[in-house]
Amino acid sequence: MNKHLVLVGAGHAHMTAMAHIKDLQSQGIKVTVIGPSSHHYYSGMGPGMLGGTYNPTDISFPVQQMVEAQGGTFITDSLERIAADRRELTLASGNTITYDVASFNIGSHVPDAEVLKAGEVFSVKPIENLQAGRQRILDLARQNVVKVGVVGGGPAALEVAGNSWACGREKDGKGCQVRIYAGKHFMAKVPAKVHKRCVQIMAKRGIEIIEGSYVTEINNGKVTLADGRSFTDDVLFTAVGVRPNPAFTRSGLETGPDGGLVVNKFLQSPKYPEIFGGGDCIYFADQPLDKVGVYAVRQNPVLLANLQAQLEGKPLMPFDPGGDYLLIFNCGDGEGIFHKRGVTFKGRLAFWIKDYIDRAFMRHFQP
Ligand SMILES: Cc1cc2nc3c(=O)[nH]c(=O)nc-3n(C[C@H](O)[C@H](O)[C@H](O)COP(=O)(O)OP(=O)(O)OC[C@H]3O[C@@H](n4cnc5c(N)ncnc54)[C@H](O)[C@@H]3O)c2cc1C
Repeated sequence: MNKHLVLVGAGHAHMTAMAHIKDLQSQGIKVTVIGPSSHHYYSGMGPGMLGGTYNPTDISFPVQQMVEAQGGTFITDSLERIAADRRELTLASGNTITYDVASFNIGSHVPDAEVLKAGEVFSVKPIENLQAGRQRILDLARQNVVKVGVVGGGPAALEVAGNSWACGREKDGKGCQVRIYAGKHFMAKVPAKVHKRCVQIMAKRGIEIIEGSYVTEINNGKVTLADGRSFTDDVLFTAVGVRPNPAFTRSGLETGPDGGLVVNKFLQSPKYPEIFGGGDCIYFADQPLDKVGVYAVRQNPVLLANLQAQLEGKPLMPFDPGGDYLLIFNCGDGEGIFHKRGVTFKGRLAFWIKDYIDRAFMRHFQP
């Protein structure tokens, strides 16, 4: 009987495995992919979609079509729970599915529920929300200057702020007045010379950075900080970091301090060798990793090799996270900030490099 490989989540770390479904099936492995949507959005280009540089088709993979064209099965549904002892998954629809080997790439969410009391916000995950936020800005900017608030002080907040500003100026829009509620410190984790350029570009766009206090409440457009200050905005984005998908804690599997599925150097659950995972949803026990797409991308070939090896009883390959990764921030309007191994610069060339790399990634996996 054919072995059953189930890929849960059609995310960045499963791209190579999904591109090889035809080969896997020809080796007698039945492949099923489970995802909530027929398309997966490439996060690196999400802020560029908000700022009007890309349209949704430029930055999304038609994952259902990619799977089905190779003879795999795509189930439009979401994972709810894993019964690892029975090798069984329960989906949001209530349906169940069994596996011989399963790999999880179900990403992360923005934990903004604690501060959101009422009203609408666009959290930066899933990336599709940025398209909805863009539409709202475009609609409002036809009439008036739009007050946009971005809650969060890291790279996603910087990119969303810069691209909201760019969006408000499109199509004769009246523009956006953007504010970043950055918590204690804006861009606290980047080197000083990167920080300096982030502040410069934001200042050039008239983007205000509010520091020194965290947001404690968002209530129908009113943002309140712990120190008592409050502001109102027409459109609000939340970019307060990410937490791994809660499906693993819900299922009683071993998780790291952030709730990510614990995996060993083979990207494999130590307790359940038929379970693997990649991307934001894992906790890589050897060396906790930043929640950046770079690692999900680097995990691709290892996941494919190890899923196949596990099904065939062959030795597994270790994952090497690699050294420093390239940082390029898209600040909107074709400008970026580049940083790698002590080299830092800002401007059009920085964005051009990011655009080139991101488009190459899309071309590689888009059918
Ligand atoms: C605005 C923004 C910009 C960013 N820019 C960059 C960048 O330039 N470079 C970089 O390296 N990183 C960037 N990141 C970080 C990057 O988004 C993440 O590290 C990356 O998305 C992780 O990929 P992933 O495949 O693990 O998760 P995701 O991209 O979140 O993909 C997870 C997939 O799983 C699916 N899924 C979710 N829940 C379920 C479920 N219950 N059942 C089944 N499927 C499910 C989702 O639909 C999705 O397709 C950015 C993040 C944000 C928010």
